[in-house]
Amino acid sequence: MSSKVIALDVERRSAGMPAAEIALRAALSGAPSPIALLDLDLRPLLFSQGWRDQTVTLRISPSQEARPLALSADFTAAARRCLETGAVETCRVEIPVADGEPERWFSFELSPWPRNGAAYGRLVVVGRDVTEAVLAARETDAARQRLAEQNARFDAALSNMPHGLCMFDAEKRLILCNTAYRRLYDLPDRLSVPGTPLDDILDHRRSIGKGPRSFAAFYAATVEAALKGAAATRDVELDDGRTIRITHNPIADGGYVATHEDVTESIRSAAQIEFLAFRDPLTGLPNRAAFQRAYDDAVAAAEQGEMFGLIMLDVDHFKAINDTLGHDAGDALLKALSGQLKRAFRRSDTVARLGGDEFAIVLRDLKCETDMTRPIEVLQDLLRTPIEHAGQSFTICASIGAAVHGDPEADPTHLLKNADVALYQAKYDGRNRSVVFRPEMRTQVEQRIELLREVRLAISQGEFDLFYQPVVDLAANSVAGFEALMRWNHPEQGVLPPAAFMAAFEDNDLSLQLGEVAFERALGQMRAWLDQGVEFGRVAINISSAQFRTGRLAAEITAKLARWNVPADRLTVEVTENVYMGWGAEVVSDTVRQLHDAGVLIALDDFGTGYASLANLRQFPVDRLKIDKSFVQNSQDEAIVRAVINLGSSMGMKVVAEGVERPEQLATLTQYGCDQVQGYHFARPMPATEVAGFIDAFSRRG
Ligand code: C2E
Ligand code: CA
Ligand code: CA
Repeated sequence: MSSKVIALDVERRSAGMPAAEIALRAALSGAPSPIALLDLDLRPLLFSQGWRDQTVTLRISPSQEARPLALSADFTAAARRCLETGAVETCRVEIPVADGEPERWFSFELSPWPRNGAAYGRLVVVGRDVTEAVLAARETDAARQRLAEQNARFDAALSNMPHGLCMFDAEKRLILCNTAYRRLYDLPDRLSVPGTPLDDILDHRRSIGKGPRSFAAFYAATVEAALKGAAATRDVELDDGRTIRITHNPIADGGYVATHEDVTESIRSAAQIEFLAFRDPLTGLPNRAAFQRAYDDAVAAAEQGEMFGLIMLDVDHFKAINDTLGHDAGDALLKALSGQLKRAFRRSDTVARLGGDEFAIVLRDLKCETDMTRPIEVLQDLLRTPIEHAGQSFTICASIGAAVHGDPEADPTHLLKNADVALYQAKYDGRNRSVVFRPEMRTQVEQRIELLREVRLAISQGEFDLFYQPVVDLAANSVAGFEALMRWNHPEQGVLPPAAFMAAFEDNDLSLQLGEVAFERALGQMRAWLDQGVEFGRVAINISSAQFRTGRLAAEITAKLARWNVPADRLTVEVTENVYMGWGAEVVSDTVRQLHDAGVLIALDDFGTGYASLANLRQFPVDRLKIDKSFVQNSQDEAIVRAVINLGSSMGMKVVAEGVERPEQLATLTQYGCDQVQGYHFARPMPATEVAGFIDAFSRRG
């Protein structure tokens, strides 16, 4: 379609046109801008070359009658308004294009013509291709939309994040902060707007009691550090008791961003975990792990020249207490003891329960050894106060080993071992006492430990056996029985007497094992003698206090007698008076009574050397009193010997004298009315194989 055709078409319809239109037509015909003149029905009367060129698809066909220009509803409405009001209207229209062609937009400006509102109305429509602008605007809109969405997401993230977040510029003015930050410090709106000075926020926080407790330290360590470009994380305590973990990170333009996290709860639960991990639940004292930490710290301080002390404490016979009085009593004892320990030592000392009945105390920063021994004395005083439990009252006995590190030349890591050595020494010396470590103890203790190791091995190798020493009845002038005495058939050193392995009788575990050996051997032997018709009388077996304190002794002995089929009246048990003292006395008395009732005789060994009071003895059924050989052999002690013999007979006991070596000793004892005697004068302890021969020889000699 050529421009000529359109022009012709316009020309053809120009008949009857007012002069102004004709002039307009002349003006429009070559104009490059899209301009059209519409009649009241919006039919194009005239259009420019530009209109024709740019809006080819506006359904203006030269061959047809011009149709009303119906570009869009908006366009029609704008045209109506324009014609009604006479005002200029604009309207944006998307131009219909063929499939696959890029979209096109036009902006139309509609003006009434002529302007003076003459009788006939026309519209001048000037079009402008705004496709680019529309597309660009749409692009910006989309971008803006994306940004808005992103901001909304970011805002949501910030306000939903549990940590407070704030950002300050280099002048310490607020750039932004989130909801959590505002809530954390009850910030009013006026203090959460950008530009608020940090100092105003801090002033507010302090005024409501939510400021940092040590303000200056907080400021220097966090804010100032961040402003200088250093990241910093700190737990800051607030005046209201909360702890806030604040992380400051410098940002590019000189300010910083900070997160504020309320860690009060997590610190509290960390403390709870610490409590569980480092406390002994029963006593509430620090446990072994806590002790180890305190000890390591002390060692480190000692390497810098500090003097420190270490105390190890063991409750005497605790196992027996637990076994005989029950775990409740054991627990009560441990709790009472931990209370006494806390009273005896300084708050700065670490009093720890290592487990069972073992306690340890680390004493830091000592001036002299007395700083350590004084509280030990205080403790020993406290221990004398009886503990009440379930209607019973008892006292705690404890062995205490202590060591002090004072010599800067010495190695502080040895202290643990030294205190152990001292504790061992305290037990060896008879328990219920305290011993401070001295270097010479180490070799003694090490030897003892070595000995115990060997004994343990020897027991398993069956190297222990019994010798038998005859007990002679003076009135009948006959062999009343034999005392069974332990011997160690040492593979290199030959037959060793108990003096060579005494420590084993004092070790709880080993003395029980040796006791077992003694019973098995003695009863086996008695069974054999019974079978062989050897008239051995009674055999006396020595019992250690550990065996007594198990509480099972009577039952075990009766069971063994039954198993070996040995009558109870063939057996005597010898106990020292020490077993009657201290802890477990009730168990001892029960055991003794049961044995006595079963027909087993009870002999009180080494009488006169211990501390048992006669009043104590009266409550136990003791059948025999054995006067210790030290009295028998010392002529100056004759009065004592005589008194013991009288005492025994007055209490209905037979009296046995040990260690009779010389005829004059025998004569004196006979004169005082002693019942039985035992000693080298008659025979040394002998192997079981010699017993039958001895009995024969004795009866023949008469
Ligand atoms: P103990 O029960 O007082 O035994 C008597 C000790 O005196 C024995 O020493 C015996 O050999 C010794 N002896 C006997 N007559 C004389 C004498 O005339 N002169 C001298 N100087 N000593 C005499 P042994 O056999 O060396 O036993 C020492 C201690 O070892 C015993 O003293 C006893 O306390 C303990 N013991 C021995 N065997 C056992 C055992 O099987 N179990 C337990 N728990 N202790 C035992
Ligand atoms: Ca004995
Ligand atoms: Ca004895």
